[in-house]
Amino acid sequence: MHVSTDHRTHSDFPTEFRGAVLRPGDDQYDAARAVYQGRAADEGPALIAQCADEEDVATVLRYATAHTIPVAVRSGGHGSDGYAMPGGALVIDLSAMRDVIVDPETRVVRAQPGVRLGEMDAAAQQHGLAVPAGTVSNTGVAGLTLGGGIGFLMRRYGATVDNLLACDVITVDGRKVRADETENSELFWALRGGGGNFGVVTSLEYRAHPVGPDVVAGQLIFPFDQAADVLGKLSAHLATAPRELGLLVAIADAPPLPMLPDEVHGKPALILVVVHTGEPATADEVVESLAALGQPLANLVTKTTWVQANSMLDAVAPYGMRMNLRGGYLPTLSGDAVDVLLEHVATVPAGPGDIYSINISFMGGAISEDMDEDAVAFSRAGAGWLWEAICKWDEPESDAQYDEWATTLTEAMRPHTLTNGYANLTDDLGEEWRRGVHGSEAKHQRLRSIKAAWDPQNLLRFNKNIAPETTD
Ligand SMILES: Cc1cc2nc3c(=O)[nH]c(=O)nc-3n(C[C@H](O)[C@H](O)[C@H](O)COP(=O)(O)OP(=O)(O)OC[C@H]3O[C@@H](n4cnc5c(N)ncnc54)[C@H](O)[C@@H]3O)c2cc1C
Repeated sequence: MHVSTDHRTHSDFPTEFRGAVLRPGDDQYDAARAVYQGRAADEGPALIAQCADEEDVATVLRYATAHTIPVAVRSGGHGSDGYAMPGGALVIDLSAMRDVIVDPETRVVRAQPGVRLGEMDAAAQQHGLAVPAGTVSNTGVAGLTLGGGIGFLMRRYGATVDNLLACDVITVDGRKVRADETENSELFWALRGGGGNFGVVTSLEYRAHPVGPDVVAGQLIFPFDQAADVLGKLSAHLATAPRELGLLVAIADAPPLPMLPDEVHGKPALILVVVHTGEPATADEVVESLAALGQPLANLVTKTTWVQANSMLDAVAPYGMRMNLRGGYLPTLSGDAVDVLLEHVATVPAGPGDIYSINISFMGGAISEDMDEDAVAFSRAGAGWLWEAICKWDEPESDAQYDEWATTLTEAMRPHTLTNGYANLTDDLGEEWRRGVHGSEAKHQRLRSIKAAWDPQNLLRFNKNIAPETTD
Protein backbone atom coordinates (compact mmCIF):
# COMPACT_ATOMS: atom_id res chain seq x y z
CA MET A 1 0.00 0.00 0.00
CA HIS A 2 2.03 2.95 -1.24
CA VAL A 3 0.44 6.33 -0.83
CA SER A 4 3.47 8.50 -0.24
CA THR A 5 5.79 10.04 -2.77
CA ASP A 6 8.26 11.07 -0.08
CA HIS A 7 11.23 8.70 0.14
CA ARG A 8 13.65 10.92 1.98
CA THR A 9 15.80 9.35 4.65
CA HIS A 10 15.13 12.31 6.94
CA SER A 11 18.82 12.61 7.80
CA ASP A 12 18.02 16.13 9.01
CA PHE A 13 15.31 14.93 11.43
CA PRO A 14 15.42 17.22 14.52
CA THR A 15 17.81 16.04 17.23
CA GLU A 16 15.69 17.56 20.01
CA PHE A 17 13.02 14.87 19.44
CA ARG A 18 12.89 12.84 22.69
CA GLY A 19 11.05 9.64 21.73
CA ALA A 20 12.32 6.75 19.61
CA VAL A 21 13.11 7.47 15.95
CA LEU A 22 12.79 4.31 13.86
CA ARG A 23 13.97 3.78 10.29
CA PRO A 24 14.00 0.64 8.10
CA GLY A 25 16.54 -1.79 9.56
CA ASP A 26 16.20 -0.55 13.15
CA ASP A 27 15.40 -3.23 15.74
CA GLN A 28 11.96 -1.98 16.72
CA TYR A 29 10.96 -0.77 13.24
CA ASP A 30 8.93 -3.82 12.16
CA ALA A 31 7.04 -4.05 15.45
CA ALA A 32 6.30 -0.33 15.33
CA ARG A 33 4.93 -0.39 11.80
CA ALA A 34 2.49 -3.25 12.40
CA VAL A 35 -1.08 -1.94 12.24
CA TYR A 36 -4.49 -3.60 12.03
CA GLN A 37 -4.60 -3.51 8.20
CA GLY A 38 -2.14 -6.22 7.17
CA ARG A 39 -1.74 -4.77 3.68
CA ALA A 40 0.03 -1.77 5.20
CA ALA A 41 2.98 -4.08 5.97
CA ASP A 42 3.78 -4.52 2.26
CA GLU A 43 5.80 -1.33 2.22
CA GLY A 44 7.17 0.38 5.30
CA PRO A 45 7.30 4.08 6.15
CA ALA A 46 10.52 6.08 5.85
CA LEU A 47 10.56 7.14 9.50
CA ILE A 48 8.40 6.47 12.54
CA ALA A 49 8.63 9.19 15.18
CA GLN A 50 7.38 7.64 18.43
CA CYS A 51 6.35 10.74 20.32
CA ALA A 52 6.95 10.85 24.07
CA ASP A 53 4.81 13.93 24.59
CA GLU A 54 3.13 16.94 22.98
CA GLU A 55 6.44 18.73 22.52
CA ASP A 56 7.65 15.81 20.36
CA VAL A 57 4.50 16.09 18.24
CA ALA A 58 5.17 19.81 17.79
CA THR A 59 8.81 19.12 16.86
CA VAL A 60 7.82 16.72 14.06
CA LEU A 61 5.13 19.03 12.74
CA ARG A 62 7.47 22.05 12.67
CA TYR A 63 10.00 19.93 10.75
CA ALA A 64 7.28 18.73 8.34
CA THR A 65 6.02 22.25 7.74
CA ALA A 66 9.53 23.66 7.22
CA HIS A 67 10.21 21.09 4.48
CA THR A 68 6.63 20.67 3.20
CA ILE A 69 6.64 16.96 4.05
CA PRO A 70 3.25 15.21 4.32
CA VAL A 71 2.81 13.41 7.65
CA ALA A 72 0.79 10.36 8.65
CA VAL A 73 -0.65 9.96 12.16
CA ARG A 74 -0.89 6.68 14.06
CA SER A 75 -2.86 6.33 17.28
CA GLY A 76 -4.54 2.93 17.79
CA GLY A 77 -3.58 1.77 14.28
CA HIS A 78 -7.06 0.40 13.49
CA GLY A 79 -7.83 2.51 10.43
CA SER A 80 -8.94 0.10 7.69
CA ASP A 81 -7.17 2.05 4.93
CA GLY A 82 -3.79 1.69 6.65
CA TYR A 83 -3.34 5.46 6.38
CA ALA A 84 -1.59 5.41 9.76
CA MET A 85 1.46 3.68 8.24
CA PRO A 86 1.82 4.51 4.53
CA GLY A 87 4.77 3.30 2.49
CA GLY A 88 7.61 5.81 2.39
CA ALA A 89 5.92 8.29 4.74
CA LEU A 90 6.95 10.24 7.81
CA VAL A 91 4.77 8.91 10.65
CA ILE A 92 3.82 10.60 13.93
CA ASP A 93 3.26 7.62 16.22
CA LEU A 94 1.19 8.48 19.31
CA SER A 95 0.78 4.94 20.61
CA ALA A 96 3.07 5.56 23.60
CA MET A 97 0.95 8.51 24.81
CA ARG A 98 -1.44 6.41 26.81
CA ASP A 99 -2.64 8.22 29.95
CA VAL A 100 -6.31 8.14 30.85
CA ILE A 101 -7.71 10.14 33.77
CA VAL A 102 -11.26 9.85 35.10
CA ASP A 103 -12.84 12.50 37.32
CA PRO A 104 -15.72 10.73 39.07
CA GLU A 105 -17.16 14.02 40.37
CA THR A 106 -17.53 15.76 37.02
CA ARG A 107 -17.77 12.48 35.07
CA VAL A 108 -15.16 13.79 32.65
CA VAL A 109 -12.68 11.35 31.12
CA ARG A 110 -9.48 12.68 29.62
CA ALA A 111 -7.53 10.36 27.31
CA GLN A 112 -4.31 10.67 25.38
CA PRO A 113 -4.48 9.49 21.75
CA GLY A 114 -2.62 6.20 22.28
CA VAL A 115 -5.33 4.98 24.67
CA ARG A 116 -7.35 1.96 23.48
CA LEU A 117 -11.08 1.61 24.04
CA GLY A 118 -10.58 -1.27 26.49
CA GLU A 119 -8.22 0.84 28.59
CA MET A 120 -10.70 3.73 28.68
CA ASP A 121 -13.53 1.34 29.60
CA ALA A 122 -11.47 -0.26 32.37
CA ALA A 123 -10.51 3.12 33.86
CA ALA A 124 -14.03 4.58 33.66
CA GLN A 125 -15.65 1.43 35.06
CA GLN A 126 -13.66 1.82 38.26
CA HIS A 127 -16.15 4.63 38.89
CA GLY A 128 -19.17 2.94 37.29
CA LEU A 129 -18.85 5.09 34.17
CA ALA A 130 -18.40 4.57 30.44
CA VAL A 131 -17.78 6.80 27.42
CA PRO A 132 -19.93 5.83 24.41
CA ALA A 133 -17.43 4.43 21.89
CA GLY A 134 -16.77 1.31 19.81
CA THR A 135 -17.07 -2.43 20.20
CA VAL A 136 -13.52 -3.82 19.81
CA SER A 137 -11.25 -3.14 22.75
CA ASN A 138 -7.93 -2.49 21.03
CA THR A 139 -9.34 0.18 18.70
CA GLY A 140 -7.77 3.58 19.39
CA VAL A 141 -9.85 6.31 20.99
CA ALA A 142 -8.40 9.04 18.76
CA GLY A 143 -9.12 7.79 15.24
CA LEU A 144 -12.51 6.46 16.35
CA THR A 145 -13.55 9.75 17.92
CA LEU A 146 -12.34 11.99 15.09
CA GLY A 147 -14.49 9.99 12.66
CA GLY A 148 -17.62 9.83 14.85
CA GLY A 149 -17.64 6.76 17.09
CA ILE A 150 -20.53 4.31 17.26
CA GLY A 151 -21.16 1.33 19.50
CA PHE A 152 -23.47 -0.37 21.97
CA LEU A 153 -24.22 2.88 23.85
CA MET A 154 -25.09 5.03 20.82
CA ARG A 155 -28.84 4.46 21.11
CA ARG A 156 -28.73 5.59 24.72
CA TYR A 157 -26.14 8.38 24.72
CA GLY A 158 -25.27 9.19 21.09
CA ALA A 159 -22.05 8.90 19.13
CA THR A 160 -18.63 9.43 20.70
CA VAL A 161 -18.45 12.90 19.13
CA ASP A 162 -21.75 13.81 20.81
CA ASN A 163 -19.94 13.25 24.11
CA LEU A 164 -16.67 14.96 23.22
CA LEU A 165 -16.10 18.09 25.34
CA ALA A 166 -12.70 19.32 24.19
CA CYS A 167 -9.46 18.43 22.42
CA ASP A 168 -5.89 19.62 22.70
CA VAL A 169 -4.46 19.95 19.22
CA ILE A 170 -0.95 20.54 17.89
CA THR A 171 -1.29 22.55 14.70
CA VAL A 172 0.78 21.78 11.62
CA ASP A 173 3.04 24.72 12.44
CA GLY A 174 3.67 23.31 15.92
CA ARG A 175 1.41 25.40 18.17
CA LYS A 176 -0.72 23.88 20.93
CA VAL A 177 -4.36 24.99 20.90
CA ARG A 178 -7.49 23.93 22.73
CA ALA A 179 -10.67 23.29 20.80
CA ASP A 180 -14.05 23.24 22.51
CA GLU A 181 -17.46 24.91 22.17
CA THR A 182 -16.06 28.36 22.98
CA GLU A 183 -12.38 28.25 22.03
CA ASN A 184 -11.58 27.51 18.38
CA SER A 185 -15.15 26.34 18.02
CA GLU A 186 -14.98 25.93 14.22
CA LEU A 187 -12.01 23.60 14.63
CA PHE A 188 -13.91 21.72 17.35
CA TRP A 189 -16.89 21.34 15.00
CA ALA A 190 -14.62 19.86 12.32
CA LEU A 191 -12.79 17.51 14.71
CA ARG A 192 -16.11 15.87 15.56
CA GLY A 193 -16.36 13.79 12.39
CA GLY A 194 -13.89 15.35 9.96
CA GLY A 195 -11.12 12.89 10.86
CA GLY A 196 -7.43 13.65 11.18
CA ASN A 197 -7.43 16.49 8.67
CA PHE A 198 -6.91 19.55 10.84
CA GLY A 199 -4.11 18.99 13.35
CA VAL A 200 -2.72 16.29 15.61
CA VAL A 201 -4.93 15.68 18.63
CA THR A 202 -2.97 15.01 21.80
CA SER A 203 -5.78 14.90 24.35
CA LEU A 204 -9.51 14.17 24.21
CA GLU A 205 -12.02 15.05 26.94
CA TYR A 206 -15.29 13.17 27.15
CA ARG A 207 -18.54 13.21 29.08
CA ALA A 208 -18.99 9.76 30.65
CA HIS A 209 -22.24 8.15 31.80
CA PRO A 210 -23.20 5.67 34.50
CA VAL A 211 -23.09 2.18 32.95
CA GLY A 212 -22.96 -1.26 34.59
CA PRO A 213 -20.86 -2.77 35.96
CA ASP A 214 -23.46 -5.51 35.44
CA VAL A 215 -25.08 -5.74 32.04
CA VAL A 216 -26.84 -8.49 30.10
CA ALA A 217 -25.07 -9.39 26.87
CA GLY A 218 -24.17 -12.12 24.44
CA GLN A 219 -25.27 -13.65 21.17
CA LEU A 220 -28.45 -15.14 19.79
CA ILE A 221 -27.48 -17.48 16.96
CA PHE A 222 -30.10 -18.31 14.33
CA PRO A 223 -29.76 -20.67 11.36
CA PHE A 224 -29.01 -18.88 8.11
CA ASP A 225 -32.28 -20.05 6.54
CA GLN A 226 -34.17 -17.95 9.11
CA ALA A 227 -32.12 -14.81 8.40
CA ALA A 228 -34.49 -13.14 5.93
CA ASP A 229 -37.50 -13.80 8.13
CA VAL A 230 -35.87 -12.60 11.38
CA LEU A 231 -34.42 -9.50 9.72
CA GLY A 232 -37.81 -8.81 8.13
CA LYS A 233 -39.42 -8.66 11.58
CA LEU A 234 -36.62 -6.76 13.29
CA SER A 235 -37.46 -3.15 12.38
CA ALA A 236 -41.03 -3.33 13.63
CA HIS A 237 -39.88 -5.15 16.73
CA LEU A 238 -37.24 -2.55 17.55
CA ALA A 239 -39.61 0.40 17.12
CA THR A 240 -40.53 0.05 20.80
CA ALA A 241 -37.24 -1.38 22.08
CA PRO A 242 -35.65 0.48 25.02
CA ARG A 243 -32.63 2.63 24.23
CA GLU A 244 -30.69 0.58 26.75
CA LEU A 245 -30.62 -2.17 24.12
CA GLY A 246 -27.55 -2.06 21.87
CA LEU A 247 -27.83 -4.38 18.88
CA LEU A 248 -25.43 -5.40 16.16
CA VAL A 249 -26.54 -8.07 13.70
CA ALA A 250 -23.76 -10.16 12.18
CA ILE A 251 -24.09 -12.49 9.22
CA ALA A 252 -21.00 -14.64 9.59
CA ASP A 253 -19.89 -18.24 9.89
CA ALA A 254 -21.10 -19.90 13.08
CA PRO A 255 -18.29 -20.52 15.57
CA PRO A 256 -17.44 -24.15 16.49
CA LEU A 257 -19.22 -23.96 19.85
CA PRO A 258 -20.21 -27.22 21.57
CA MET A 259 -23.82 -26.04 22.01
CA LEU A 260 -24.24 -25.65 18.24
CA PRO A 261 -24.93 -28.68 16.02
CA ASP A 262 -21.75 -29.86 14.25
CA GLU A 263 -23.31 -29.34 10.84
CA VAL A 264 -23.60 -25.55 11.31
CA HIS A 265 -20.01 -25.02 12.49
CA GLY A 266 -18.25 -22.82 9.95
CA LYS A 267 -21.47 -22.31 7.99
CA PRO A 268 -23.24 -18.94 7.59
CA ALA A 269 -25.53 -17.98 10.46
CA LEU A 270 -27.43 -14.94 11.67
CA ILE A 271 -26.02 -13.69 14.96
CA LEU A 272 -27.74 -11.00 17.03
CA VAL A 273 -25.10 -9.42 19.26
CA VAL A 274 -27.02 -8.01 22.19
CA VAL A 275 -25.83 -5.63 24.93
CA HIS A 276 -28.50 -4.47 27.38
CA THR A 277 -27.20 -1.79 29.75
CA GLY A 278 -30.49 -1.03 31.51
CA GLU A 279 -31.80 -2.66 34.68
CA PRO A 280 -30.74 -6.33 34.44
CA ALA A 281 -34.22 -7.30 35.71
CA THR A 282 -35.83 -5.84 32.58
CA ALA A 283 -33.35 -7.42 30.19
CA ASP A 284 -34.88 -10.91 30.17
CA GLU A 285 -38.05 -9.75 28.51
CA VAL A 286 -36.11 -7.76 25.89
CA VAL A 287 -33.85 -10.70 25.07
CA GLU A 288 -36.66 -13.27 25.07
CA SER A 289 -38.69 -11.19 22.65
CA LEU A 290 -35.68 -10.95 20.32
CA ALA A 291 -35.14 -14.72 20.54
CA ALA A 292 -38.82 -15.24 19.71
CA LEU A 293 -38.29 -13.64 16.29
CA GLY A 294 -37.15 -17.10 15.14
CA GLN A 295 -35.96 -20.42 16.52
CA PRO A 296 -32.40 -19.74 17.69
CA LEU A 297 -29.83 -22.52 17.64
CA ALA A 298 -28.31 -21.02 20.77
CA ASN A 299 -29.05 -18.26 23.24
CA LEU A 300 -25.72 -17.17 24.73
CA VAL A 301 -27.03 -13.96 26.29
CA THR A 302 -26.23 -13.82 29.96
CA LYS A 303 -25.42 -11.52 32.87
CA THR A 304 -21.88 -10.21 32.52
CA THR A 305 -19.90 -7.00 33.01
CA TRP A 306 -19.77 -3.99 30.71
CA VAL A 307 -16.04 -4.50 30.16
CA GLN A 308 -16.57 -8.12 29.08
CA ALA A 309 -19.58 -7.27 26.95
CA ASN A 310 -17.75 -4.48 25.18
CA SER A 311 -14.86 -6.76 24.27
CA MET A 312 -16.78 -9.89 23.22
CA LEU A 313 -16.15 -9.07 19.54
CA ASP A 314 -12.36 -9.02 20.06
CA ALA A 315 -12.29 -12.74 19.25
CA VAL A 316 -13.40 -12.07 15.67
CA ALA A 317 -11.10 -9.07 15.17
CA PRO A 318 -7.54 -10.44 14.94
CA TYR A 319 -4.79 -7.88 14.37
CA GLY A 320 -2.65 -7.73 11.24
CA MET A 321 -4.63 -9.70 8.63
CA ARG A 322 -5.14 -8.23 5.16
CA MET A 323 -8.60 -6.70 5.04
CA ASN A 324 -11.17 -4.57 3.32
CA LEU A 325 -14.20 -2.79 4.72
CA ARG A 326 -17.24 -1.35 2.96
CA GLY A 327 -20.39 0.10 4.37
CA GLY A 328 -22.97 2.83 4.59
CA TYR A 329 -26.23 3.98 6.13
CA LEU A 330 -29.63 2.54 5.35
CA PRO A 331 -32.77 4.59 5.98
CA THR A 332 -34.69 1.38 6.71
CA LEU A 333 -33.87 -2.30 6.79
CA SER A 334 -35.87 -3.02 3.64
CA GLY A 335 -36.44 -6.52 2.34
CA ASP A 336 -34.58 -5.61 -0.86
CA ALA A 337 -31.48 -4.44 1.02
CA VAL A 338 -31.54 -7.55 3.20
CA ASP A 339 -31.81 -9.74 0.08
CA VAL A 340 -28.71 -8.12 -1.43
CA LEU A 341 -26.69 -8.66 1.75
CA LEU A 342 -27.80 -12.27 2.16
CA GLU A 343 -27.25 -13.13 -1.52
CA HIS A 344 -23.65 -11.97 -1.31
CA VAL A 345 -22.84 -14.40 1.51
CA ALA A 346 -22.84 -17.21 -1.07
CA THR A 347 -20.12 -15.53 -3.14
CA VAL A 348 -17.64 -14.50 -0.41
CA PRO A 349 -14.26 -15.89 -1.52
CA ALA A 350 -13.62 -18.09 1.51
CA GLY A 351 -10.09 -19.44 1.92
CA PRO A 352 -8.99 -21.49 4.94
CA GLY A 353 -8.63 -19.20 7.96
CA ASP A 354 -10.25 -16.27 6.17
CA ILE A 355 -12.93 -14.29 8.00
CA TYR A 356 -15.93 -12.36 6.73
CA SER A 357 -18.75 -10.63 8.51
CA ILE A 358 -21.65 -8.56 7.21
CA ASN A 359 -22.81 -6.42 10.10
CA ILE A 360 -25.95 -4.35 10.46
CA SER A 361 -26.19 -1.96 13.43
CA PHE A 362 -29.45 -0.48 14.65
CA MET A 363 -29.12 3.32 14.94
CA GLY A 364 -32.55 4.29 16.25
CA GLY A 365 -32.41 6.33 19.45
CA ALA A 366 -30.21 9.12 20.78
CA ILE A 367 -27.63 9.03 17.98
CA SER A 368 -30.16 9.68 15.24
CA GLU A 369 -33.12 11.25 17.04
CA ASP A 370 -31.71 13.58 19.72
CA MET A 371 -28.79 15.23 17.93
CA ASP A 372 -28.69 18.19 15.57
CA GLU A 373 -27.22 17.07 12.23
CA ASP A 374 -25.35 20.34 11.75
CA ALA A 375 -23.97 20.57 15.30
CA VAL A 376 -20.91 18.50 14.38
CA ALA A 377 -19.19 17.37 11.17
CA PHE A 378 -20.21 13.71 11.70
CA SER A 379 -23.42 12.99 9.78
CA ARG A 380 -26.25 10.67 10.73
CA ALA A 381 -29.24 12.34 9.06
CA GLY A 382 -31.79 9.76 7.96
CA ALA A 383 -29.72 6.83 9.18
CA GLY A 384 -31.84 4.04 10.61
CA TRP A 385 -29.21 1.34 10.21
CA LEU A 386 -25.56 1.00 9.28
CA TRP A 387 -24.35 -1.92 7.15
CA GLU A 388 -20.71 -2.91 6.89
CA ALA A 389 -18.94 -5.82 5.25
CA ILE A 390 -15.53 -6.81 6.58
CA CYS A 391 -13.28 -9.42 4.99
CA LYS A 392 -9.94 -10.60 6.36
CA TRP A 393 -7.40 -12.91 4.75
CA ASP A 394 -3.67 -13.60 4.84
CA GLU A 395 -2.54 -14.24 1.27
CA PRO A 396 -1.70 -11.24 -0.98
CA GLU A 397 -2.90 -13.34 -3.95
CA SER A 398 -6.42 -13.11 -2.52
CA ASP A 399 -6.49 -9.28 -2.52
CA ALA A 400 -8.06 -8.96 -5.97
CA GLN A 401 -10.92 -11.39 -5.42
CA TYR A 402 -11.83 -9.92 -2.03
CA ASP A 403 -11.72 -6.37 -3.42
CA GLU A 404 -13.86 -7.42 -6.37
CA TRP A 405 -16.41 -9.02 -4.03
CA ALA A 406 -16.52 -5.89 -1.86
CA THR A 407 -16.95 -3.65 -4.91
CA THR A 408 -19.74 -5.82 -6.31
CA LEU A 409 -21.55 -5.75 -2.97
CA THR A 410 -21.09 -1.97 -2.64
CA GLU A 411 -22.56 -1.44 -6.12
CA ALA A 412 -25.50 -3.72 -5.38
CA MET A 413 -26.15 -1.87 -2.10
CA ARG A 414 -25.82 1.58 -3.69
CA PRO A 415 -29.57 2.03 -4.44
CA HIS A 416 -30.34 1.29 -0.78
CA THR A 417 -27.47 3.25 0.80
CA LEU A 418 -27.63 6.93 1.75
CA THR A 419 -25.09 9.41 0.33
CA ASN A 420 -24.02 10.45 3.81
CA GLY A 421 -22.25 7.90 5.92
CA TYR A 422 -19.85 7.02 8.70
CA ALA A 423 -16.38 7.53 7.25
CA ASN A 424 -14.63 5.23 9.76
CA LEU A 425 -16.60 2.13 8.87
CA THR A 426 -15.75 1.92 5.21
CA ASP A 427 -12.60 2.15 3.15
CA ASP A 428 -12.09 5.43 1.34
CA LEU A 429 -14.43 5.28 -1.66
CA GLY A 430 -13.04 8.28 -3.53
CA GLU A 431 -13.68 11.96 -4.05
CA GLU A 432 -17.39 11.86 -4.82
CA TRP A 433 -18.05 9.72 -1.75
CA ARG A 434 -15.94 12.03 0.45
CA ARG A 435 -17.95 14.98 -0.84
CA GLY A 436 -21.20 13.43 0.34
CA VAL A 437 -20.18 11.55 3.46
CA HIS A 438 -20.67 14.49 5.85
CA GLY A 439 -24.25 14.97 4.76
CA SER A 440 -24.49 18.15 2.69
CA GLU A 441 -22.56 20.39 0.34
CA ALA A 442 -22.67 23.12 2.99
CA LYS A 443 -20.96 20.87 5.55
CA HIS A 444 -18.41 19.74 2.99
CA GLN A 445 -17.54 23.33 2.08
CA ARG A 446 -17.36 24.30 5.76
CA LEU A 447 -14.87 21.46 6.31
CA ARG A 448 -12.81 22.61 3.32
CA SER A 449 -12.69 26.13 4.66
CA ILE A 450 -11.62 24.93 8.14
CA LYS A 451 -9.00 22.72 6.49
CA ALA A 452 -7.65 25.75 4.62
CA ALA A 453 -7.40 27.68 7.90
CA TRP A 454 -5.55 24.95 9.83
CA ASP A 455 -3.67 22.89 7.21
CA PRO A 456 -3.47 24.97 4.02
CA GLN A 457 -0.69 22.84 2.50
CA ASN A 458 -2.60 19.63 3.18
CA LEU A 459 0.32 18.08 5.05
CA LEU A 460 -2.21 15.89 6.89
CA ARG A 461 -3.28 14.09 3.74
CA PHE A 462 -2.99 10.41 4.67
CA ASN A 463 -6.63 10.18 5.65
CA LYS A 464 -10.10 10.44 4.15
CA ASN A 465 -8.85 13.68 2.81
CA ILE A 466 -10.67 16.96 2.81
CA ALA A 467 -8.96 19.20 0.27
CA PRO A 468 -8.31 22.74 1.55
CA GLU A 469 -10.60 25.34 0.05
CA THR A 470 -8.75 27.30 -2.62
CA THR A 471 -9.26 30.96 -3.43
CA ASP A 472 -8.77 30.61 -7.22
C1 LIG B 1 -11.78 -4.39 14.10
C2 LIG B 1 -12.33 -3.00 14.03
C3 LIG B 1 -13.44 -2.70 14.79
C4 LIG B 1 -13.99 -1.41 14.74
N1 LIG B 1 -15.09 -1.14 15.49
C5 LIG B 1 -15.60 0.11 15.49
C6 LIG B 1 -16.73 0.43 16.29
O1 LIG B 1 -17.29 -0.40 16.99
N2 LIG B 1 -17.19 1.71 16.27
C7 LIG B 1 -16.60 2.67 15.50
O2 LIG B 1 -17.06 3.81 15.55
N3 LIG B 1 -15.53 2.39 14.73
C8 LIG B 1 -15.03 1.14 14.70
N4 LIG B 1 -13.95 0.85 13.91
C9 LIG B 1 -13.41 1.89 13.03
C10 LIG B 1 -12.49 2.80 13.81
O3 LIG B 1 -13.25 3.84 14.39
C11 LIG B 1 -11.44 3.41 12.87
O4 LIG B 1 -10.69 2.38 12.28
C12 LIG B 1 -10.53 4.39 13.59
O5 LIG B 1 -9.82 5.12 12.62
C13 LIG B 1 -9.57 3.71 14.51
O6 LIG B 1 -8.80 4.65 15.20
P1 LIG B 1 -7.29 4.31 15.59
O7 LIG B 1 -6.77 5.43 16.38
O8 LIG B 1 -7.24 2.94 16.16
O9 LIG B 1 -6.65 4.20 14.15
P2 LIG B 1 -5.38 4.83 13.41
O10 LIG B 1 -5.18 3.92 12.24
O11 LIG B 1 -4.25 5.04 14.32
O12 LIG B 1 -5.92 6.21 12.92
C14 LIG B 1 -6.81 6.30 11.83
C15 LIG B 1 -6.67 7.68 11.23
O13 LIG B 1 -7.20 8.64 12.14
C16 LIG B 1 -6.40 9.82 12.12
N5 LIG B 1 -5.86 10.01 13.46
C17 LIG B 1 -5.66 9.06 14.40
N6 LIG B 1 -5.22 9.62 15.52
C18 LIG B 1 -5.13 10.94 15.30
C19 LIG B 1 -4.74 12.03 16.11
N7 LIG B 1 -4.36 11.86 17.37
N8 LIG B 1 -4.75 13.27 15.57
C20 LIG B 1 -5.15 13.45 14.29
N9 LIG B 1 -5.53 12.44 13.49
C21 LIG B 1 -5.53 11.19 13.99
C22 LIG B 1 -5.35 9.60 11.07
O14 LIG B 1 -5.80 10.14 9.85
C23 LIG B 1 -5.25 8.11 10.96
O15 LIG B 1 -4.84 7.66 9.69
C24 LIG B 1 -13.39 -0.42 13.93
C25 LIG B 1 -12.28 -0.74 13.16
C26 LIG B 1 -11.75 -2.01 13.20
C27 LIG B 1 -10.56 -2.33 12.36
